[in-house]
Amino acid sequence: MQIGSIIEGKERNEENRESMLVVNPYNQETVAELKLATKQDLDDAVNSCFSIFHSTMKVMPAHERADILKTAADLLEEQKEDFALTICKEAGKPITGSRGEVERSVQVIRFAAELAKNITGEVIPMDAAIGGENKLGFVKRIPLGVVGAITPFNFPLNLSLHKIAPALAAGNTVVFKPAEKTPVTAYKLVKLFQEAGLPDGVINLLIGTGIDVGEPLVTHEKVHKISFTGSLAVGRKIRETAGFKKVTLELGSNSPNILFNDANIEYAAKELVKGAFAFSGQVCISAQRIYVQKDIYDTFLEDYIKQTKSLKIGDPADEQTNIGPMINEEAAKRAKQWIDDAVEHGAKVETGGERNGTVLSPTIMSNVDENMKIIAEEVFAPIVSVIPFETEEEVVGYSNDSIYGLQAGVFTKDINRALRVAEKLEMGGVWINEISTYRQDNHPYGGVKQSGIGKEGVKYAIEDMTEMKFIGIKLEREIM
Ligand code: NAD
Repeated sequence: MQIGSIIEGKERNEENRESMLVVNPYNQETVAELKLATKQDLDDAVNSCFSIFHSTMKVMPAHERADILKTAADLLEEQKEDFALTICKEAGKPITGSRGEVERSVQVIRFAAELAKNITGEVIPMDAAIGGENKLGFVKRIPLGVVGAITPFNFPLNLSLHKIAPALAAGNTVVFKPAEKTPVTAYKLVKLFQEAGLPDGVINLLIGTGIDVGEPLVTHEKVHKISFTGSLAVGRKIRETAGFKKVTLELGSNSPNILFNDANIEYAAKELVKGAFAFSGQVCISAQRIYVQKDIYDTFLEDYIKQTKSLKIGDPADEQTNIGPMINEEAAKRAKQWIDDAVEHGAKVETGGERNGTVLSPTIMSNVDENMKIIAEEVFAPIVSVIPFETEEEVVGYSNDSIYGLQAGVFTKDINRALRVAEKLEMGGVWINEISTYRQDNHPYGGVKQSGIGKEGVKYAIEDMTEMKFIGIKLEREIM
């Protein structure tokens, strides 16, 4: 399969273009050959989105935008297996998880279709101000224009739709720059929107690297907003170079999960196996630090190791596989190095810690300290640390001792303690009796500190992808 950028409905995949391969991270088979976008394509994509915003999207009624989104959701549901197989092949995500991603994505588009018809404004009580008599003032929410959507490899469908679906619901156009590691899903998604009746040029797709097309997209003067999901390093750069554009940044974390001594240990252990190891830990809210109150530490750790050892490692296309590869060998080597560094400084590998090519076995660490990379930085790998604590105050301190603050999990039967801790945790979101890794697509989602700026979750992304416009009328009124 050979794919290129799609601009105004036409694919740019001429033979003489520079190319790049997408390979299956498990077996290194070629998934696609990419024909890369040039600076000219980037300019064309932005200019086309800019003019199609003014000629088409800005004037398209809400019911039409909603219908297109609804059709796209129905098509995605029909094509679920094809999309799941594509994600599985290019990202190496186990097939069951890939199907789950598609199912969530259908819901994301449906939420956007419903909300497209409900973008409301407000009437201002003008006479509350002295001199405001005989004036009518109201606020409309209007689309921004061109949204630049830059997305990561780990949820190539769902995280792309968390930008594209609200952008379309609100009446924007989108220049879509997916991760170069997983662009085939993105390509199929743009084709699906074409099939759903979206006019050409409302989404323009750029297949290329972060440096070649991501950077100039961020600085382009005709782009009104950048919505980025990815690493802290790139997010920081975008924040520095985006100028006057609105920016949403969904970045990384080292999510804590806290187990108090009254927690249901068996349930927490079972959920935290998924929480730490789903998609080999390559999830931004993956459970990375598990703090366990001292009196249940040994029982939890023993159960947790036992359940982790039962995970099946193998080909992500196999229905039974729980743990597939990491995205590439470089990522697996880096993660293994972090384990070795921690061990050198006194940490213990309780289980796992072995690398075979791109596959890193699910790894539980203990005896760690806050300076080790596996604690202080985002591991983004199947590595989790189990750490004992004594008091509530102490564990809140440990959890907040991080540059990140995305989501946390708290396990306890004591509702007062749960709420006290939830309020003290410096996070964008806190789950009680649920793992940090759980995300529903309709709640506000986004981090504090260096985990990001702004919120997604369809309704909240629509707010960020519109702006308020005030219209005031001075009325002529006869005095009766
Ligand atoms: P990445 O930052 O390497 O790449 C993300 C995207 O940015 C890609 O499309 C890439 O091509 C592009 N890019 C790279 N350099 C760029 C530049 N200089 N200018 C503009 N664009 C550029 O991230 P990744 O490895 O694909 O994804 C993993 C990261 O994403 C992790 O840190 C993870 O925590 C984060 N993430 C966050 C969330 C969230 O919602 N908070 C969700 C998923 C992933």
